[in-house]
Amino acid sequence: MDKTIGIFGGGQLGRMMAQAALPLNIQCTFFEAQQDCPAAALGHVFSSQAEHGLSAFIQSADVFSLEFENTPLEDVDALSQTKSIYPPRQALAIAQNRLSEKTLFNQLDIPVAPFKAVDSLDSLKQAVSELGLPIVLKTATGGYDGKGQFVLRQADQIEQAWAELGPAQSLIAESFVTFSREVSIIAVRGQNGEVKTWPLAENHHHHGILSHSIVPAPNSIDLQPVAQDYITRLLNHLNYVGVLTLELFVTEQGLFANEMAPRVHNSGHWSIEGAVCSQFENHIRAVAGLPLGSTDVIRPTVMVNIIGQHPKSEDVLALNGAHLHLYNKTEREGRKLGHITLMPVNSEDLVGLCRQLAQILPEPLALKADMTL
Ligand code: AMP
Repeated sequence: MDKTIGIFGGGQLGRMMAQAALPLNIQCTFFEAQQDCPAAALGHVFSSQAEHGLSAFIQSADVFSLEFENTPLEDVDALSQTKSIYPPRQALAIAQNRLSEKTLFNQLDIPVAPFKAVDSLDSLKQAVSELGLPIVLKTATGGYDGKGQFVLRQADQIEQAWAELGPAQSLIAESFVTFSREVSIIAVRGQNGEVKTWPLAENHHHHGILSHSIVPAPNSIDLQPVAQDYITRLLNHLNYVGVLTLELFVTEQGLFANEMAPRVHNSGHWSIEGAVCSQFENHIRAVAGLPLGSTDVIRPTVMVNIIGQHPKSEDVLALNGAHLHLYNKTEREGRKLGHITLMPVNSEDLVGLCRQLAQILPEPLALKADMTL
């Protein structure tokens, strides 16, 4: 092996990074609490629970990355004394706090919904009077997939919202954005500053969890350069290396940024088959200091998450143009177990293929049979 990359986290994102790394003669190691994590089949897992787990992990690799944005900054600091980590610490620190994130978006002239910091019942009342209703109240740290959120529609909910989210933590109150769809842009920046961007993905959620992504996002020719400009501002400002994701709302006033993820992203899984070079391979290339690959799309693609229950593999693979990715996880409600990439030879067949897939996915159905492209 030419190089070893140590990855904080050993979930499916780490697994798919390591799958992309192997053909380049790059080995991955992982730092993770669960020994039987999805990445375990691909490289050694150093236990984050063991007494000297972190120092053994730091010794195990030449350079580091992460698949989990809540990677503790103390761990990053411990390794930074002797080794490098990409993305940079600053990007991680900002992405861990919604207030810092939204402040950075403002600073870089990336549109965001008006927001206010909230740390007391009085400041929540003040935010409601300044921003108006409805507002979305979120924990500043730790929330994901819509958890740690309260949509405040009426003034008589203020106390309830504060009681549910407030007392222990810092919050952000954001104006409610009326959007027609949610999209994400994923880009990669190399160690030489080169930036490459994949096309926008249109993302559909079910119970707060990504259900499927359509790429390129339909009717997005005008949005693509705008989103590309926003993410490039972030990448250059942060002197970023690796893959960055920016989630955006499409509104009548244009794109509004919601949040960034300093890592490969579920809405980019389509790129394994659908792009010349996937988000995983380009992330590994960037972290290893190698030239970046093309982010061009091969054919329009739909990525469907497998959530909670596995479909029969033979049913999925009987569909012409379906690729199955399983993460070696056990079934549990709301858990991401794998994904399916639909990429028929003729892109006109994509809607039909989606409908066929919707018939064979077990309940709860992640993909609505009436989906439109
Ligand atoms: P987040 O945890 O910030 O990704 O939010 C989860 C979901 O809540 C988003 O995908 C949106 O559907 C919705 N959401 C978050 N923020 C807002 C907002 N300011 N206005 C309207 N909907 C929002």
